Amino acid sequence: MQFTDLGLAAELLRAVEEQGYTEPTAIQEQAIPPILLGQDVQAGAQTGTGKTAAFTLPLLQRLKVHANTSVSPARHPVRTLILTPTRELAAQVFESVRTYGKHIPLRAACVFGGVSIDPQMAELRAGVEILVATPGRLLDHVHQRTVNLSQVQILVLDEADRMLDMGFMPDLKRIISLLPAVRQNLLFSATFPDDIKRFADQVLKDPVRIQVERRNTVTDLVSHSAFKVDPLRKREFLENLVRTRDMRQVLVFTSTKIMANRLARSLERDGFNCAALHSDKTQQERMAALAAFKEGKTQLLVATDIAARGLDIEQLPHVINFELPPNPEDYIHRIGRTGRAGIAGEAISLVAPDEMDSLASIERLIKQKIPIQAAPTDTVAGRSARRSHAQPSRPDRPRRAEPATPPAPTMPPEAGVRAAPEGRCGALLSGVGTAAAPQRVTPSAPTDKRRKEVAALFLPPVTAKQD
Ligand code: AMP
Repeated sequence: MQFTDLGLAAELLRAVEEQGYTEPTAIQEQAIPPILLGQDVQAGAQTGTGKTAAFTLPLLQRLKVHANTSVSPARHPVRTLILTPTRELAAQVFESVRTYGKHIPLRAACVFGGVSIDPQMAELRAGVEILVATPGRLLDHVHQRTVNLSQVQILVLDEADRMLDMGFMPDLKRIISLLPAVRQNLLFSATFPDDIKRFADQVLKDPVRIQVERRNTVTDLVSHSAFKVDPLRKREFLENLVRTRDMRQVLVFTSTKIMANRLARSLERDGFNCAALHSDKTQQERMAALAAFKEGKTQLLVATDIAARGLDIEQLPHVINFELPPNPEDYIHRIGRTGRAGIAGEAISLVAPDEMDSLASIERLIKQKIPIQAAPTDTVAGRSARRSHAQPSRPDRPRRAEPATPPAPTMPPEAGVRAAPEGRCGALLSGVGTAAAPQRVTPSAPTDKRRKEVAALFLPPVTAKQD
């Protein structure tokens, strides 16, 4: 099928062509025609499938009749509302709206928390047809009376499962109560647990149901592997893995903000270009970290689940789970950052003995066995030897547990802030950034043969692809 077969307007076909897309993805093929007809759609599609264009292109077409260049705000009421769970996703969707809508004079704005509300208020007062928003900040605008939602014709709920996971249900209900009863509803979700199904049944009217991947499955472009690693050795193991495999762009996941900060700082101290991404960072910091990572200036981005949700990083080759997610469905979201738009990727998990149950839950969910191998016992050797030549080891500073700072006002608390079990967290913390921890016995420099053996263990494992 070609884009020209979908009934899209010339302005949109031009924008698509300028993006270099040659043919529609599966979700675009299936979602664009019913959306153009004004039907409600419930779509099971992960990020990376092209779902943003699947709803943005047809909604732009439906709004095209309202496009005008009048300066009067009254001529630019909010006609489409797109809700996303995170600021990053909102920014990305907004960018797509601008990209695909560049030849149609419709106004769009994006509002999310963590940045000043004033410029957003001015933009909304001037009038916009398409509004991309996170629920909390949108309600702030509702309370300030800077936005009127009474003329919304199309509601898009993007990554609905994550919005519910993040506790946005009351906000969503409140927002929906402000919309006209007659409207088109489009709900996109990577997964459909029971609460999402119930919510979809309440919001959608006789929807066209589309599923582009099997339920709770992962793209077969991603190969999965795991290493069984002692929690105290994860930090060194990660470093060796990245160095030995010469990984240039790696998204590393931790379960908590504290761990993301500590790991990033520790890797930075060891000469890596590294940044942390989580919800305690200011919006500017998050945008800057993401931009540097996308441009390849930052080699390692250490992120928590919520902050990395929905990120679109072109051709990201590696995702490393420094800690497995407490919720197995988050594994699918994490690895959804790689293997996108037809390009193969790799997901590697570092699994501590007390995370084996989590690994089994993930395998059950993705219906796939993840090959696991024992980490080499002396992965520290190379690093320690290198360090002893490169720089004197610093005495280890005593470390105190860092309290998590309160989340930004409009963001609900990050799932990742859930404290890891006492013992595990303590063990990991002592393993992070301890250049010469007193309790560690520095092994003698490895022989060349042994070093080669260790390096061989880090070669890309032969992994079973998803069937
Ligand atoms: P999404 O699932 O919306 O996050 O999209 C993932 C990536 O696929 C984005 O980088 C899009 O630019 C890209 N993309 C969307 N549609 C197409 C298409 N038809 N052909 C190739 N790439 C696409």
